[in-house]
Amino acid sequence: MRIYILDKSSHMAHVRGMKKATFQNPIFHNEDKAREALEAVRWPDGPVCPHCGNSHEDKIAKLEGKSGRPGLYWCHECKGQFTVTVGTVFERSKVPLTKWWMAAHMLNSGKNGVSAHEIHRTIGVTYKTAWFMMHRLREAMIEANPGPMGGPGSKVQADESYYGNTSKRAKHYRKGHRHKNKIVALVEPKGRVRAFHVDKANADSVRELLVTNVHRTSELHTDESKLYTLVGKEFAAHKTVEHGWNQRGYYVGKDGQTTNNVENFFGVFKRGIKGSYVFCSEQHLHRYLAEFAFRYNNRSGLGVSDGERTAIALKRVSRVSA
Ligand SMILES: [Zn+2]
Repeated sequence: MRIYILDKSSHMAHVRGMKKATFQNPIFHNEDKAREALEAVRWPDGPVCPHCGNSHEDKIAKLEGKSGRPGLYWCHECKGQFTVTVGTVFERSKVPLTKWWMAAHMLNSGKNGVSAHEIHRTIGVTYKTAWFMMHRLREAMIEANPGPMGGPGSKVQADESYYGNTSKRAKHYRKGHRHKNKIVALVEPKGRVRAFHVDKANADSVRELLVTNVHRTSELHTDESKLYTLVGKEFAAHKTVEHGWNQRGYYVGKDGQTTNNVENFFGVFKRGIKGSYVFCSEQHLHRYLAEFAFRYNNRSGLGVSDGERTAIALKRVSRVSA
């Protein structure tokens, strides 16, 4: 991934080095450092003019000292000025970049996410601004045009789960799974996850998700639910596990098939929502799923540090058009 090339930049050292004494990191306090770190993330190969796309080293000049605005560049190609935030959400939001870095970091350290209320209290922005920032960050975490999962010889686990409408005291509580939100998740063991909020969890909706997201040469692992019986025949192999526990606390079939990884993802999602957000509405469920999937797909187990995960999220926010 591109982001690792950034190691050559001294500003990225700040991002990489985020650990315990994180909030001492200058990118959280010094607007110049925060901007330089964003430049390193957005422009790993040097500045790019947002007006004309020019990125030629000799045709872009830094306007240091010549104007009052720090981080200003001059494009010789289109004779225009720009900074790293021109045309991005950062420019529109008027929130200092130090606070964007802090919010992105809080959302990306740990597994559980963070509420807009906590962002509001911790970084000193209004609740409304905190909500806007979190919404943008979460939006940026949605994977755009991801390629197919699995592939020849690869395994993909699929499972469905139910979320919400579980409290008997809730206003609209109705008994049974039928009234809950349905989530389907696909996981490559040791790899990535993709999770979907579906209207109905039935054989047709599950098939649609599987055939559009998973390479047909993959081996499909599911539980014994009838949802997967027919679509299973469209993949290189389909192996099922009974829901149950063996002596190690996990169930693994005799061919090594398992749905443990996808079940773990559901567990992290539900605990995280409960811990950080208490509840998420049906309308926003797909965004929260994307947030949890993003952290899972950029987890430390895959060699991505908190700082790198934060940088990837913030880079993607800058791509969301203002
Ligand atoms: Zn230009």
